[in-house]
Amino acid sequence: MPGLRIENVTKKFGSVTAVSDVDLQFNSGEMICFLGPSGCGKTTLLRMIAGLDDPTSGSIRFEDKDLTGVPVHQRNIGMVFQSFALFPHLNVGENISYAMRIRGHSRSECSDRARQLLDMVHLPGLEDRNISQLSGGQRQRVAIARALALNPQVFLLDEPMSALDANLREVMQIELRKLQQELGITTVVVTHDQTEAMTMADQIVVMGNARVLQTGTPMDIYKKPVDKFVAGFIGTSNLLPATLSGPHSVHVNGAELKVDGNTDRFAKGDAVLLMTRPEEVVVHHRSETAMANAVAGKVTFVRDIGATIEILVDCAGHEVISVLTPKDWPGVKVGDQVLVELPAAACSVLAA
Ligand code: ATP
Repeated sequence: MPGLRIENVTKKFGSVTAVSDVDLQFNSGEMICFLGPSGCGKTTLLRMIAGLDDPTSGSIRFEDKDLTGVPVHQRNIGMVFQSFALFPHLNVGENISYAMRIRGHSRSECSDRARQLLDMVHLPGLEDRNISQLSGGQRQRVAIARALALNPQVFLLDEPMSALDANLREVMQIELRKLQQELGITTVVVTHDQTEAMTMADQIVVMGNARVLQTGTPMDIYKKPVDKFVAGFIGTSNLLPATLSGPHSVHVNGAELKVDGNTDRFAKGDAVLLMTRPEEVVVHHRSETAMANAVAGKVTFVRDIGATIEILVDCAGHEVISVLTPKDWPGVKVGDQVLVELPAAACSVLAA
């Protein structure tokens, strides 16, 4: 079912264009992450969905209802802010049921709902606690419970993990995703953390300079980034300068390599970048028999971190990273001359 629709939305603050002609559509019940560097317009877009800011032009719809101009309190939206913004003078239960109280629900309805939501966010029995007596992770759970109190149709979170330490962040990413899937609620999360987006999202929207650069599933974006910026923003990538030599082939350091990915946007002779992900790169001893789709190089660094081993190889002045599991370890050491295999199926061609 069609869910959130952002139609040609632009937002200007004076001479600053914070969001430029963004056009997106998602299904109901999806988890969407806006991902991008600081200042690219993520929060402004989220605030427009919430109704905290109005678009300069364009419109925002949910399930075919036009939300443009509808005030925040009539949008049926729950929001968690970066700082959690809990009310310090109210206890946990009162924080959670605050919006219900304002809408005239009885005291017992409010406390029943607060208890139910506290169970859901794994904080049973904490309704009488003061906010000051909660840890960062507990505050976040209370903020989530508060935002869900009125059964919103859309759940919005602005950098929800940024106040948590690294371990807790990982736990909460998984918890939030599970909760969102259980409730089936359309959710938009703003983040600049690619792992967070990859962990939680059905759809990632990569933004840069007020614009959408790419939208897709985490794996679409990881495997087929549209350009160098997106490739660098999601995961680690190897980018080797190359020249297009045919519809599905490139020259790299004197070697001819096949590329399965689409090369239609380029012409023969164009300077391009050959992109591969480190886990697709295989390092072989140079003495092995002739190898297709490989470039020569010299090992400059080996890092064994237990679950994986990273090999850095200098290929004519360009560094290539290979990440292997110990069972695929080729036994190379620093200084070895090697062949770096870049399988055609794992190669993409990007604009230089
Ligand atoms: P961050 O990750 O740092 O929060 P962001 O991607 O969420 O960044 P926004 O906060 O949406 O980016 O800001 C986008 C641009 O709009 C920035 O250049 C910012 O300075 C500008 N901007 C945002 N809000 C306002 C405002 N109320 N008045 C003027 N300029 C603003």
